[in-house]
Amino acid sequence: MSETILVIGSSGQIGTELVEELRNQFGNDKVIASDIKEPQNVQNGPFEVLDILNKEQLLKIVEKHNVKEIYLLAALLSATAEKNPEFAWELNMNSLFNVLNLAKDGIIKKIFWPSSIAVFGPTTPRENTPQYTIMEPSTVYGISKQAGERWCEYYNEKYGVDVRSIRYPGLIGYKSLPGGGTTDYAVDIFHQAIKHQKYECFLNKSTRLPMMYMADAIKATIQIMQAPSENIKIRSSYNLAGISFNPEDISSEIKKYIPSFSISYKEDFRQKIADSWPQSIDDTNSKKDWNWYPEYNLESMSADMIKNLKNIVT
Ligand code: NAD
Repeated sequence: MSETILVIGSSGQIGTELVEELRNQFGNDKVIASDIKEPQNVQNGPFEVLDILNKEQLLKIVEKHNVKEIYLLAALLSATAEKNPEFAWELNMNSLFNVLNLAKDGIIKKIFWPSSIAVFGPTTPRENTPQYTIMEPSTVYGISKQAGERWCEYYNEKYGVDVRSIRYPGLIGYKSLPGGGTTDYAVDIFHQAIKHQKYECFLNKSTRLPMMYMADAIKATIQIMQAPSENIKIRSSYNLAGISFNPEDISSEIKKYIPSFSISYKEDFRQKIADSWPQSIDDTNSKKDWNWYPEYNLESMSADMIKNLKNIVT
């Protein structure tokens, strides 16, 4: 049987779009989607129900489909993790160990595991945050991502595991809804603008955060996995930058298309999480090592979101 790719957590915000693009590039039958819950949209290819914490079930699926590459996306995100810290730690860490150990045992060849800008904390320089800097995350999500990065590097150095990782900024797309992160507002604002011409934002107007359009994130994910192994010099996780903006900036952009749109602000617990994160990211290493460049800026991303969402949101 020919080798396949397994995406774990495929029904989520990133998985939905990543599976589609991987199938475009490698063929529908080459990409096995899997999630603890059934997908909402019809997907043109194999799907398996998988709880990533169940090692036996994971091994069975890997053997059944001759899986050689895994994209591990299942996780509890920043806002949800704060509500259930112990479970977040269990899911975010044990999912990673289950996959890293498959590679250590020689059963699979390559892993993609995403980290996040949440690995940084209040003591990190916030502007143009360097690849190597102070990292004292203050959220359980950030702590789990930072520990995950250390384990990825450790498995690469000790056991030669080919694991590749990106510190995603907040991701914005129209094909799927976000799953409980602090940057979710930047997706919801488009939906509410089209439906109700107004939005109440849970972050204050000047909260500038690093973000990226989903098309760029998917491009980066597949690009880092396709790069020759010797080009991947960082085995913890690469900084990745797209667009930095605050709620006021995005609201002004939306007003160009929907002049009656208005935004109001009511901070909640996510403000404190956002205040501990960088405002912009230095991704020189990604550019140098595997030729990363983003295609979308705030203007082109907003135009594309509105054009596509107008056909979807009613
Ligand atoms: P999401 O919450 O939208 O999707 C996660 C998926 O994992 C869901 O479909 C969920 O059903 C599934 N899942 C949960 N528990 C599972 C289990 N036990 N077994 C199998 N599947 C399970 O998340 P996302 O936004 O797609 O994020 C994917 C990855 O990218 C995560 O590691 C996240 O930390 C990281 N990330 C995302 C962002 C972002 O802005 N979306 C930013 C930084 C990092």
